[in-house]
Amino acid sequence: MDPLAPLPARPLTGGSVLAVDIGGTKFRVGIVGAGGEVLASALAPTPKAADAETLWSSLAAVVREVLDLGAAVDAVACGAGCGGPMRDHGDAVSPLNIPGWRSFPLRSRLQDLTGLPTFVDNDAKALALAEGRYGGAAGADDYLAMVVSTGIGGGLVVDGSLLDGRLGNAGHVGHVIVEPSGRRCACGARGCLEAEASGTAIEAITGKPPAEASADVIERTGMLVGRAVASVAALLDLDLAVVSGSVALGYGAPFFAAAHAELSQRARLSFVADARIVPGGLGADGPLVGAAAVGFRGIERGGRP
Ligand SMILES: [Zn+2]
Repeated sequence: MDPLAPLPARPLTGGSVLAVDIGGTKFRVGIVGAGGEVLASALAPTPKAADAETLWSSLAAVVREVLDLGAAVDAVACGAGCGGPMRDHGDAVSPLNIPGWRSFPLRSRLQDLTGLPTFVDNDAKALALAEGRYGGAAGADDYLAMVVSTGIGGGLVVDGSLLDGRLGNAGHVGHVIVEPSGRRCACGARGCLEAEASGTAIEAITGKPPAEASADVIERTGMLVGRAVASVAALLDLDLAVVSGSVALGYGAPFFAAAHAELSQRARLSFVADARIVPGGLGADGPLVGAAAVGFRGIERGGRP
């Protein structure tokens, strides 16, 4: 299936969104239509060690490059996805993977640059929105969307709405404890899913890049993801987890089989007994389409972030 095949546009959305994906390795900017289709895009490497204004100059150059393509003529909003934590709906972002930005006013800078109503959210939550609109959770009102990559992030949709939480950080499934006496996590705790099953953790444990993992490591990684999903599913009455990211999708079928086996064994309450873990449906465009979904949601909410 072509995950980016145009789908019928949702009501209240017209035009396109200027989408901005702030990644630790690259900035990607594009124009995304209301059906989730990427109409144009450009990217540049993230100058990871740079200071705040140098980072901004690099990002602004990619934004201008896309605006100059002319495909943004019907853009109704700018949407951005950025690593957490953040506050004030993206007016103070401090992505852990971009040390030069601490309380950086990303939302207002993008709005000043583009002249468009601008909305910013956590990148994993953004992807969760997009999976529900266009991807592996299309039509579902209750699900967990996860990214198992260098780190592990997630977003929760419950009763049809993406959960924000008190400060906007709901969905940090990477910090569900899966091995009580396991490895120390960057957050300070021990045995978090991210400390055991992220690409960074796999490399630290095996001494090899995650792509070179043995069958045992792939199975263990899937098993731990399934364990975390079992807890989340029971807590929130969910029966679907959509999992993407380079580690999960790169490992493929054996990863998903191990995750599902662990989930089935751990989740025994009647309402989670049929819970499923499926691959994300948006492929490499997921983060960009997620950023666009943040923009479309902002417009649909009448400008409320
Ligand atoms: Zn942690």
